[in-house]
Amino acid sequence: MQEIVGRFAPTPSGRLHMGNLLCALLAFLSARSRHGRFLLRVEDLDRPRCTPELTEKCIRDLQFLGLEWDGGILFQSRRTPVYEAVLHRLIQTGNTYPCFCTRARLRSMLAPNLGDTQVVYPGFCRNLTETEREKLAMIRTPSIRLRVPDTVISLEDRLQGSFSENLLHACGDFVLRRSDGLFSYQLAVVVDDAESGVTEVVRGRDILSATPRQIYLARLLGYPPLHYVHIPLLMDPGGRRLSKHEHDMSLDGFRERYSREEILGILGCAARLLDRPEPVSLDDLIRVFSWDRIPPDMLTLSYPSSISTT
Ligand code: GLU
Repeated sequence: MQEIVGRFAPTPSGRLHMGNLLCALLAFLSARSRHGRFLLRVEDLDRPRCTPELTEKCIRDLQFLGLEWDGGILFQSRRTPVYEAVLHRLIQTGNTYPCFCTRARLRSMLAPNLGDTQVVYPGFCRNLTETEREKLAMIRTPSIRLRVPDTVISLEDRLQGSFSENLLHACGDFVLRRSDGLFSYQLAVVVDDAESGVTEVVRGRDILSATPRQIYLARLLGYPPLHYVHIPLLMDPGGRRLSKHEHDMSLDGFRERYSREEILGILGCAARLLDRPEPVSLDDLIRVFSWDRIPPDMLTLSYPSSISTT
């Protein structure tokens, strides 16, 4: 049987909140409960936003919970030459093209109701002639986009079930390297998962819609397919999104009120691995872990205090 290699890949542009920590815990439990390996990758490509202090805090939070990883930490900020080499391969094989569109141009030409996050690139720069490219290159540095086919890419997610997307209609040709030189998350995540030998990707459901893009890119590069588990958002006990209460929902906020075992119990209960938020060890959670217990749509925190009268 294939060895499971799981990973947690935080972006340290802020503190990890309980939702991120639950994701880390589930990725860890999934791998360890099947005697697999668990890796840590810090997605700190966006240097100004991902400071060394935030990175350090993120690592300490994981250590506090006891989520030990195998081997060293992979820092994306140190892997530029690797991404350069992969991009070069894609350029050589004719899968990319330079795009000179500015954000302002794209915004002004797109339907106003699409919103910033769901911009479908209409391919303005897809078929420019060499002469046009040369002229535009004198004015500005292009981004590099991947040509996507008019094909449906499907995946079977362990919690979310089947998910399919036609790349051309859902996102269009997407950016691999921005005009300021920053490599895109899509490129880095695909290259790093493959090069680290990852077999299972556990992450938030908000990234599900980017997964077909990543699968397409991985196929182009000849990388093996991965297993995916996109976990639902974690809500506070009132059913609200967590991000609103930054300190309260950070590990520091929880540590002011609870011990490590209590926090593990709170997370384990939110994932429905436990019936009550009672103190547990990681080994206890490894013993009860099963994806079958975890609902696909919503996870809610509950606290020991709310059951203390029973
Ligand atoms: N770095 C991403 C985040 O923190 C997760 C990427 C992934 O797991 O593929 O949201």
